[in-house]
Amino acid sequence: MGGLERGVGRPQPESGILRAPGKQTRENDNPFYDRIKIPTTFAGVSIDVYLWFHLRMIRAVIFDLDGTLVDTEPIHFAAYVAVLRDEGIELTREEYFGRLIGYNDRDCFAAILGENRKPAGEAEIGRLIVRKSAAFIASIAGRDLLYPGAAEFVRRCAERFPLMVATGALRREAELLLDQSAIRRLFVDTIAAEDVAHGKPEPDCFIAALGRLGFILRSRPPIASGECLVVEDTAAGVEAAHRAGMKVLAIAHTTPHRELAAAEIVQDSLAGTDLDEVLRALSQLR
Ligand SMILES: [Mg+2]
Repeated sequence: MGGLERGVGRPQPESGILRAPGKQTRENDNPFYDRIKIPTTFAGVSIDVYLWFHLRMIRAVIFDLDGTLVDTEPIHFAAYVAVLRDEGIELTREEYFGRLIGYNDRDCFAAILGENRKPAGEAEIGRLIVRKSAAFIASIAGRDLLYPGAAEFVRRCAERFPLMVATGALRREAELLLDQSAIRRLFVDTIAAEDVAHGKPEPDCFIAALGRLGFILRSRPPIASGECLVVEDTAAGVEAAHRAGMKVLAIAHTTPHRELAAAEIVQDSLAGTDLDEVLRALSQLR
């Protein structure tokens, strides 16, 4: 199991990596506890009550989909390349993964067409989105594209929190991916590209996801943005979540750690991420 690595964008009680090597039978055996020095009692209250109070700071988890739960970014890239090549535009891997990843189709095509001095009106972009989506769906049909550990991490989150998907993918693509990986039932609902006016790094999709949760769950008191944890894989996604007032667990599946450093926590993979450690680390940020 890997350790927790905190981002550097927010005030941190300490820097560096919090290691949690494997399952521990006692808290005192775990270097994680040694490093953050959680007291055994606090003002005469037992540690369990202390942790319960602090862990309540997260009340919902919102997942990005592409690049976070499913290994689809190379497929999106290939679909962009095929469609743009017909338009006389060569999209390089460096351009996509270095600059455009995390954008929805509309923003991605608008940026590329604009830079190549091609017509970038609504009709033109809409036509390209239809072709790109057809290529993408043909490529993912029948495939379970979940990253290792993703289903287990989602299941563990679902045992404790309501979950949402907030994605820049089209709704048809997102629902197909969730159905094929058999995790759709674990989520309350999905916010897709069609549901918001602006894609990431604008905060719209995360604000909409929280609004949808509030509408469905009617929680009292309502879940606040600061009580939401977003799981993301791109810098645009981290920025969007922060602009929505949410905390971020970044997974460096598609983007280097250094570009995700604004996130509260950065991890290499979901397979190496322990939910309890994430929650405890977040509780130490205040
Ligand atoms: Mg993503």
